[in-house]
Amino acid sequence: MVTEMNNPTTGCIRPVQYWDGAPVPFITAWSRERIPPQPLTTIHGRGGTGLGFQNEISHVDRHYGVLWPRMPAARGGRPNFMAVHALRQRQAMGRLLCQVCGGPTCGSRRSDERTLFLAAAPAGRQIADGEQTASPPVHAVCARLAVEYCPPLGRGWAAALVEYAPVWGVAGPIYHPQTLDQLPADRTGVHHVPFTDERRIRWVLAARLIVTLKGVTPVTDLDALADEEIASARARVPR
Ligand SMILES: [Zn+2]
Repeated sequence: MVTEMNNPTTGCIRPVQYWDGAPVPFITAWSRERIPPQPLTTIHGRGGTGLGFQNEISHVDRHYGVLWPRMPAARGGRPNFMAVHALRQRQAMGRLLCQVCGGPTCGSRRSDERTLFLAAAPAGRQIADGEQTASPPVHAVCARLAVEYCPPLGRGWAAALVEYAPVWGVAGPIYHPQTLDQLPADRTGVHHVPFTDERRIRWVLAARLIVTLKGVTPVTDLDALADEEIASARARVPR
């Protein structure tokens, strides 16, 4: 049963979709969004040989110069809370959209242009300056919802306000240049490839956009930040 519930604010913060009483993050994959077999081939482009699609349409299939899977993006069926939708993750990370509600995070607090990031973490661990993440930003209001409902975050989390988040690279499977078989990956099942790795980046099918977190200030009081966000949103509602 899909429903939408309004967050307590307006503006940047969008209604969150719910499934059987639980909020479904914007980046969560749904059962009708299965990734079909990809029409992979080897292409000879500018700068050398690399992975491509048959009938590739560069401005649709490539982002940040890397190939992304062709897959449906219409939320339907049942949410799979363990799976992330590659294209919505890229959209959220690249445009700094909230991974929970999908609304813009930039400028959600009047007094502060920094962006909030949240990570599952053992107690006492903080997000470090220069750390890489594939987990897009969140509104403070949405972070509070996530901490309440998301089991890994319920076991421990770390949050930080970040001044800027330049793109670092992608995560995804890498294909063998001759056989186009997937190369073995580490225990996470994917390779993490920086954009500076000109050799490997040509053979990856991106599943996540990864950024570096810079100008990091740890946040321990999500409630205070959420209250500030709500006050900012209310101040913007025309009377
Ligand atoms: Zn949000």
